[in-house]
Amino acid sequence: MKLVLATGNKGKLREFKQMCEDEVVAFSELLGAFEIVEDGDTFAQNALIKARTIYEKLGKEYIVISDDSGITVPILNNEPNIYSARYAGENATDKENMMKLVENLQAQDVQKSPAFYTASIAIISKYGEYVVHGWMHGDVIDTPRGEKGFGYDPIFIPEGFSQTLAELDDAVKSEISHRAKALGLAKPIIRMLK
Ligand code: IMP
Repeated sequence: MKLVLATGNKGKLREFKQMCEDEVVAFSELLGAFEIVEDGDTFAQNALIKARTIYEKLGKEYIVISDDSGITVPILNNEPNIYSARYAGENATDKENMMKLVENLQAQDVQKSPAFYTASIAIISKYGEYVVHGWMHGDVIDTPRGEKGFGYDPIFIPEGFSQTLAELDDAVKSEISHRAKALGLAKPIIRMLK
């Protein structure tokens, strides 16, 4: 069975390809690009919405994997959470979203505060639906640093490090990230389904 990733996010696709020994293709390579409305209340619900949409179009010969993820900052009333991809507006860029978080930290005169990333991975095949989670804890800072990674990585310092995720090598992120942890749980399920 073929593995298809239900995401249009290039950063996520790159990380999945790096972390999976299996060949993963983006859904857009098979179906063309289109928007999926993510109107769930949780990461898990949104991951399932994305995976179900693609699975229904592709059919039973496929294993569809989706990732819904985001960053949560307790000092900002747990923002942006499931709204991480559209924090600064519906079509906002990663940079605009990150800068909104920076502005909100600066508005409260916060230079550094605990935060965490969540990744919810849904897996759908003819055998049913599965959802697993992974988390990465650390701090957000009010001054972006580094060029690597994507999204909020320039303002996120993982626990046990002094650099931001955008300053650390991709290989380091692949070992400690929320997505890597969720994928660690997803892999045995995918192996079983194949
Ligand atoms: P999704 O594609 O709807 O799951 O949105 C996820 C959003 O959360 C992305 O657009 C990023 O802004 C943010 N995000 C998720 N994972 C990461 C990560 O590993 N690094 C940086 N930002 C992330």
